[in-house]
Amino acid sequence: MIVMKFGGTSVKDVAAVRRLIGIVGGEQRPKVVVVSALSKVTDALIQAGRLAEQGDAAAAAAAVRALHRRHAEMAVLVESPQRKAALVAALDELFHELETIVHALAVVEEVSPRSADTIAAFGELASSRIVAAAFEDAGLRSCWLDARQVLITDAQHGAAQPDRQATDQRLLSLVRPLALEGQIPVLGGFIGATAAGLTTTLGRGGSDYSAALFGAGLGADEIQIWTDVDGMLTGDPRLVAAPKVVPQLSFDEASELAYFGAKVLHPSTILPAVRLGIPVRILNSERPEAEGTLITREAGAHGDGPAAIACKRGVTRIDIASSRMLMAYGFLRRVFEVFERFRTPVDVVTTSEVSVSVTVDDRRALDAIVAELSGFADVGREDGMAIVCAVGQRLRDDPCLAARFLGALEGLPLAMVSLGGSRMNITVVLRNDDVEPAMERLHRRFFEDQPRAEPALAAHAR
Ligand code: ASP
Ligand code: MG
Repeated sequence: MIVMKFGGTSVKDVAAVRRLIGIVGGEQRPKVVVVSALSKVTDALIQAGRLAEQGDAAAAAAAVRALHRRHAEMAVLVESPQRKAALVAALDELFHELETIVHALAVVEEVSPRSADTIAAFGELASSRIVAAAFEDAGLRSCWLDARQVLITDAQHGAAQPDRQATDQRLLSLVRPLALEGQIPVLGGFIGATAAGLTTTLGRGGSDYSAALFGAGLGADEIQIWTDVDGMLTGDPRLVAAPKVVPQLSFDEASELAYFGAKVLHPSTILPAVRLGIPVRILNSERPEAEGTLITREAGAHGDGPAAIACKRGVTRIDIASSRMLMAYGFLRRVFEVFERFRTPVDVVTTSEVSVSVTVDDRRALDAIVAELSGFADVGREDGMAIVCAVGQRLRDDPCLAARFLGALEGLPLAMVSLGGSRMNITVVLRNDDVEPAMERLHRRFFEDQPRAEPALAAHAR
């Protein structure tokens, strides 16, 4: 059995749902389909809630009616008059209910987290209805299920945590038998309910998490995340000329890359599946023939190089030096306690006997942090820096790879270098201006066969 999850862009309009029908219809294995809200709908629902909170009943009602129209237009997917009437009636009922709720909230000018979840859930409730009806009309035996009957969560509205045991039990009793006898259960992602039946949501982007939880509970053979890109790329397409799709990545590699915004999905959301060894495949619903990226517990083969390179611009480097650090202990703790107190994450760290350098990309508390560190050390600060790294299991296995990485950067001034024995990345910190040549050269060295002309270096490096 497999779980197929389609994100907002994969259900955004009639053409997208038609493609989805083709994709699901071409899949022979028993399957469960999970869908997001049509793209931008969750944002619009949250906005309608805000309008209600401000007491603007008219604007909130108008927002709901616009959403109603957009969803009603999707009914052209269904040809059979009875089925179409049933879908239109279901959507009418949903959006009238939503209008009533939003109106009531606008009167009291208050939207609690619980109410906000109730509103946000309408996106997935509507999209899943539409997709189920469209499947049925296209001759795919399917049935709509209310995800709130299946995904049972705690009452932490806006970021609910699943009750795995209760959810698994529902999956096995309500969902699995349907899929095994050839029907296609269609459920909305992102939404669930408490044991008492109150609607909850898992947090933005939560449909991937739903898909992973369903896949884990059903013991699926594979989870497919259908989106609008070909998969994880070997480099940022805005920076490298010929990025390629990474065919296979380990969960750890995907997690490293996620920090750098190579974020096709948030890796932690698929953890329940990866832990059980269920492969997660990222696929492009606009190009279903493309191979996509497979994320597995263990690393994939990346030849003799890294899996991908990535970068992050606009970080600040802080240098903390003190002769007191020489042969002393406790200094690092003192330094990091300051960052902890100001709730500021530190990303890259390098140390020598008398100094520590760190990078930070959340600058909100930086002035206060620098002031406090200056109380016991000499502190330097440099803004406008960037992190460039290569990620891949191979960096752990082949200690010579790091030198190849650094060799590609010859001539570029490096501010920090970080590499560890059991790590699967090598990271350098350099100036923002040098990111482009660095990425281009690294990509050429590791992922392109044809050597191209050396990109120009920034003036200082020549
Ligand atoms: N519709 C929800 C959101 O936009 C969940 C998702 O798409 O995964 O956050
Ligand atoms: Mg999404």
